Amino acid sequence: MYADMVSAASVWAVAAQRLQQRNEASYRQWGCKLVPVRLGSSNELVLGVDDDFFGEWVATYFCDMLTDALRDIDGVSYSFSFEAGHAPAPVPPVRESKPKAATTALHRPSGVPRRGPNYSFSNFVVCEANRYAFTVVKDVVERPGFYNPLFLYGLSGCGKTHLLRAAEAEAADNGLRVRYAACSELLDEFYKLLQNKGDLNEFRASLRDVDILLIDDVHVLAGKTQLQEEFFKLFNFLYSRGQQIVLTSDKQPCEIHGLEDRLITRFESGMTSEVNMPEVEGRFAILRMMRDEAFVKVRLDDTILQFLAEQISSSVRRLKGAFMRLATVASMRNNTRITVEQAEQLLAAQLGKESSARDIPMDLIQRLVADRFGLTVADIRGNRRPRNIAEPRMVAMYLCRTMTKHSLPEIGVAFNKTHATILNAVNKVPELCAHDDTLRRTVQQLEHQLKRG
Ligand code: ADP
Ligand code: MG
Repeated sequence: MYADMVSAASVWAVAAQRLQQRNEASYRQWGCKLVPVRLGSSNELVLGVDDDFFGEWVATYFCDMLTDALRDIDGVSYSFSFEAGHAPAPVPPVRESKPKAATTALHRPSGVPRRGPNYSFSNFVVCEANRYAFTVVKDVVERPGFYNPLFLYGLSGCGKTHLLRAAEAEAADNGLRVRYAACSELLDEFYKLLQNKGDLNEFRASLRDVDILLIDDVHVLAGKTQLQEEFFKLFNFLYSRGQQIVLTSDKQPCEIHGLEDRLITRFESGMTSEVNMPEVEGRFAILRMMRDEAFVKVRLDDTILQFLAEQISSSVRRLKGAFMRLATVASMRNNTRITVEQAEQLLAAQLGKESSARDIPMDLIQRLVADRFGLTVADIRGNRRPRNIAEPRMVAMYLCRTMTKHSLPEIGVAFNKTHATILNAVNKVPELCAHDDTLRRTVQQLEHQLKRG
């Protein structure tokens, strides 16, 4: 695995440098935010992205550029795919205006820790959904040991990690000894030590020698009996000395299946608070904050922010991702204003995922489109390229992408085409519609028809 990481990084170092030389602005906009994760089978480079919006956006608009950059690296051409959930690398400082001479080192030397996003109490938007959690987290930083333990739970992407890291920063500023750890990292470290028969004492000391211990995502403990045992001892040690413990999880303690009762009781013995997804006003406030704090002036009107706040209710992570995507498109288009319709089109695939149950079968879409254009399903799935067939085929691909939850490769199978062809169609149809009112109306009617089922 280590060897994989090294070679993914070295492949990406070459590709990233090519990207930067070809187009500095583009590189800064998205290239530098990709993180090499690993090399998959058949020379596929897996690139880490913050969220699925960003990955799709890069794939949609920069597929060719990225493919070029990955061509012939020491004789090998790599394909790419994205994996969400990786914090972006920090954006390198803007270089003095010599865009052509782009040869500065691009990457951190390996081993240098990457600074995460800037999480603080001041950039956490407090609203009904999280006010209580916010208050108690601030309290424990002021008075460690007061509510012990503090257990925060809530769905993914609603701000738990943000609160923990803000607490970490504030506690450190106050001169407290504080340690933040993601439970999955502890798990890795712990099992590695067990495997290599390493010394657990150092591991234990690093967790015990603190005023505040912040452990993120403790639901990961489910079913891990050895680590639970270790955790039990750790908990008792800290608790009996009045050292503060803060835990987060995606569920309440009693709902974590495979967690020992004695841990459940302990986790529930202090203060428990739910972190909810901000309501629409809170989501709007988060977006306004992002716009106000953006590094460059972002021209997204309140109507657009309101639209996003209304449409995206599943997670703040996705909300931020959607904002970033629109902000980047706006800046690429020389900061022209984006309309709500354009936003709807740009985010179609992701907004689709927000609405519930969308299991329209792909063959139904193919049939409907074929009927509508007076073609056969075989035409839609086939390879003949006259425009009167090629366009409806692209429409069918586009609808499969926007109206169902299927991935690009799955749609590829349904049409017997490559993932890149589908991507091209998904990208092209909104463009065609922008110049062709009849086509646009037809697509809209098909969408309505499909929605009605
Ligand atoms: P969780 O740990 O609950 O899955 P995170 O704390 O990672 O969620 O939040 C996901 C993203 O949303 C982060 O970028 C975080 O900064 C942001 N976020 C969540 N809640 C808020 C909030 N109330 N104000 C500002 N940003 C928020
Ligand atoms: Mg988290």
